[in-house]
Amino acid sequence: VAPADYIRAHIRTVPDWPAPGVMFRDITTLLANPRVFRVLIDQFVHRYFDARPAAIAGLDARGFIIGSVVAYELGIGFVPIRKKGKLPFATFEETYELEYGSATVEVHTDAVKPGERVVLIDDLIATGGTMLAGHKLLQRLGAEVVEVAAIVDLPELGGSARLKAAGVPVFSLVSFE
Ligand code: IMP
Repeated sequence: VAPADYIRAHIRTVPDWPAPGVMFRDITTLLANPRVFRVLIDQFVHRYFDARPAAIAGLDARGFIIGSVVAYELGIGFVPIRKKGKLPFATFEETYELEYGSATVEVHTDAVKPGERVVLIDDLIATGGTMLAGHKLLQRLGAEVVEVAAIVDLPELGGSARLKAAGVPVFSLVSFE
């Protein structure tokens, strides 16, 4: 069985969470299974092995779980992009719109050196707002974003198309229509 199909088969779908009508794609079932977790991480490690980025950036909070292990395996640094108010040093911040209200993410101003090549990782792309905000922060640091990568893409919500339209290279392992 192809790795992507193996991974896809182990994602749990929780209907009507966090709101009625939403089909929540739950990746905790991937993390709990050591064989699937290894296959998952290896997909990203193999993808970026030759590209040799300087760092992996991960989005709070599920992007930390995946991104930090990928960085460790590649022998490179990890950069957390956190929800506002958590980082102690000087930060850049980006605010973006959610369905209800807005969210703000932050990165340390010295997290990446100008010109360094970085891959941005999160668990899932829905509207693309979170990835786009993370990408903007990395650009403000002067990073060269190799691509933004997720386990899951939900193409119907338009996020990956929106990112591509903004000139951001996008990669995902599996998609759910
Ligand atoms: P976006 O900003 O609309 O693309 O939403 C993506 C962000 O929301 C990511 O950080 C995800 O962790 C989270 N998210 C949205 N929908 C889901 C889902 O179905 N499963 C897991 N995470 C989700």
